[in-house]
Order: sequence, then C-alpha cells, then structure tokens
Amino acid sequence: MAEVVRRKKVCVIGAGAAGLCAARHFAPNLNFELKVFEQTNDIGGTWVYKEATEVDENGLPVHSSMYRDLRTNLPAKIMNFPDYQRLNAVEPCCVSHQEVRSYLQNYADHFNLFKYIQFGTRIESVRLQVSAEGEEEWAVRTKIMKTKEEKEIIFNVIMICNGHYFDPYMPKIPGIEKFPGMIVHSHSYRKPEDFSGKSVLILGAAASGVDIALDLANHAIRIYLSHNNERLNGSLPSNIIEVLGVEKIEEGKIFLKDQSSVTADIFMFCTGYRYSFPFLDENCGIRVDDNFITPLYKHLINIDHPTMCIVGVPTVVVPFPMFHMQIQYFLALLEKRASLPTKLIMLENSKLKTSKKRHAHKLMDKQWDYNNSLADAGGFDRLPKFYKLGYEAWSAQRKANLLNYKRARFVISEDEESVELVIPK
Ligand code: FAD
Repeated sequence: MAEVVRRKKVCVIGAGAAGLCAARHFAPNLNFELKVFEQTNDIGGTWVYKEATEVDENGLPVHSSMYRDLRTNLPAKIMNFPDYQRLNAVEPCCVSHQEVRSYLQNYADHFNLFKYIQFGTRIESVRLQVSAEGEEEWAVRTKIMKTKEEKEIIFNVIMICNGHYFDPYMPKIPGIEKFPGMIVHSHSYRKPEDFSGKSVLILGAAASGVDIALDLANHAIRIYLSHNNERLNGSLPSNIIEVLGVEKIEEGKIFLKDQSSVTADIFMFCTGYRYSFPFLDENCGIRVDDNFITPLYKHLINIDHPTMCIVGVPTVVVPFPMFHMQIQYFLALLEKRASLPTKLIMLENSKLKTSKKRHAHKLMDKQWDYNNSLADAGGFDRLPKFYKLGYEAWSAQRKANLLNYKRARFVISEDEESVELVIPK
C-alpha cells in the first residue's frame, strides 16, 4: 500500500509583510498545510495607517506606527520582494505608506494568499507539547475577536511574524514623572498639526526621530533633537536644534548630558520598540533580555525547538528582501534540503557580539553577508546586486542630504553594476 505522506501543519502568526512572504513560499508547497492568523481585519501590518492611537475597531491596542505623511525611508526599488518587483517608483525614490500598503495587497492577490488568512483572530498562546508519536508539536490557542470564541489547534511548525514595532520602548529618565507637559512615543505620532505652536523635545535621532523632527518643522515652533550620536549635517531647518541626550527632568526643566537645560511643551520618545511575544509560553524557550532574543540561530531559528522561527528580528536592514531570504532558508531546513549545524555551533553563533544587548540584532552593513549566508546554506539564489548597491547609495545620499534624499532619482546602470541616487535640481 502506498505510504500516506502527512503534510506538516504550519501556523503563521500575523499577516504583515513577513507573514505574507511566509504564505507566499509555504502555500504552494504540497509538503505543508498553511494557516495564517491575523488579529486585525487587514493585511499589511504596520503599513495599515490608523488615525486612532489607542485601540482599534477590535478593541486591540493599535498595532501600526505609521504617521499620516510618512514616506518610506528606503528607496522603494530596494523594498521590493525579489520575486514581485512592482514597487517601481524611480523619482522620488521614496513612496507614501499607502503605496507600500497597495503593493502588499497586490502581492497577496498575485500569489493568491487571501484564502490562507483567517482575519480577526488573535493568537493568545503557543505552547510546546509532545505528540503520541513522540514528536514536538505546538498547541496554539486562537481567539476570534468578534465572538471571543477560543480554540486550541495543533501545528507542527510555527512562524512568528507578529512585527517588532508596536511595543514602545521608553528608557527610564530620572524625574520624567514630574515632566509638566505631554509625554508621547513616536508610536502614537500621527500628524504635525497636533503640535502647532508647541515646542517639542524629541529623544532619539534614528530613522523615526529625524523623520518626525522634519515632519514637525513647519508646525512646531521649536524642536530639540536630543541624541548622543554623530551630529547631523548642517542643512536642518533652523527651528530644529540638535542637543545632547537627556540626563534628568528637574523643576520642569529637561537637563542634558552637558548639564545645560531646555524647556519644552512635549517630550517625545523616538527610542524604538521592544521585541514582544506575549503569546509564547515559557516552555517555548524564547527569552528576551534588554531586546536580545535567545536562543536564536541566525537571528531566526529557535535553537532548542527548530520547528519555530521568528521572522524579521534583525534591525537596520532592508526588511522585505530579508524576509524573502529568511523564509526560504527556514523552508529549506524543514524540507531537509539544508541542515542545521550542531547545537554547540548554533549557540556559539547566537552569542552576543555587540557591546550592548539592545544592539544584538542590529546588522546594518552586515545584512548582505547575512542574506548571502542564508541563500548559500539553503541552496537558493542570492539577492540581485542592486539591493546592496542601492542601499549603499541611499546611505551615502541620506548622510549628505538629509533634507532631500527622499526626492532623489534612483538610477541603476545598464549593466546593473552600479546604482546612483541623483537629487533633481
Ligand atoms: P508588521 O507589519 O508589524 O505585521 C505584523 C502583523 O502581525 C500585524 O498585522 C499584526 O496585527 C499581526 N499580529 C501581531 N500579533 C498578533 C497575534 N497575537 N495574533 C495575530 N496577529 C498578530 N521598512 C521598510 O522597508 N521601509 C521603510 O521605509 C520603513 N519605514 C518604517 C516606518 C515606521 C514608522 C515603522 C514602524 C516601520 C518601518 N519599516 C520600514 C519597517 C517595517 O516594520 C517593515 O517594513 C515591515 O512592514 C515589518 O513587517 P512585519 O510583517 O514583520 O510586521
């Protein structure tokens, strides 16, 4: 009698860009039976702009961190998934959040993914257990938001694609509770008119801090951009004043690292987010310590239970193409086209390599070797060259031209050996 091949049941948590990419690669594969759970009623995750800042229509905390006038901070061309290059903006090279959302909708349509997604269903818990045959499996508790009905479903594979920009991180600042004005996090920032005539101190000058400072410049009277990094270039609008990091709040004043002080109506944390997996039972073995997730091999695979992966952990990367690589690597492992090294080697690989735990998953220039290592180990194509070249051209242009880099024209040479971002006159 022919042996019946049991398809592995795969659970994907979240239908943002990562979850859609997981569905795109697993859905057509007959070795797997796929189900994607999305707590909201939409695909696109953080690219689904919400005017509300507290709770959404399902009564859930608002997930998206988009603000009304956001344009991407990467050239659209390098945000494309390599197998669906339809985000074609050339000039300006950066696009609105609406365009990215439509791109993701078209991607889901093109690969026929909607039928695998169960909307309005939140994953409440994921617990490891052992089947009657002695195999590890995952007991997943789902909750239908409308009816509150809960159910437990057993899966063989879990892909965590719940996003990493929804749980605000706010460092402790002595005296902050006595700050006389309003305190907000960039997660709740929506539009500059809300800050008309106000002075704002923005803490943090990474992507969001700088972007929001520029967004506010025509409305707020003064913006202190507080950070300890290298100074930005001199082309900032005159009402954006770079100051050092914040030391403490005392007597209504914000004291900076050099002991000087400023006052502001609003204190805005642009200090990033915490990795958050509220549904994971302790027995899944995943720990987050000061934003360092362990034990993960290649920032992706749960070392103790490798039928679980967390997609999109690396930061300061180009996310969509990286998801494409991570997911194909995970698929290759499950199909045994690739194999994991020994646990000892994986643990060595997962060790902290940065001075601060908070930066453990920051890849920046290392992202290209990382993506290549996934492709080589998984036996699939590396990313086309223009991603790295485009990112490097973008980094240089952003540094030199913070005010205008988003307007630049994205030019790939005919032989695809070089990329330039050219700012129009
Ligand atoms: P998300 O988009 O956050 O999607 C996660 C999904 O999981 C959501 O739909 C959520 O509802 C769902 N979910 C969460 N928990 C559960 C649960 N328990 N049960 C069921 N569903 C759940 N990237 C770029 O490439 N270019 C940019 O210019 C850019 N700009 C950005 C600007 C801002 C302000 C932010 C916050 C991010 C930006 N990013 C940018 C990064 C962006 O996060 C990634 O591009 C990408 O969208 C992340 O996709 P994701 O699927 O990992 O997460």
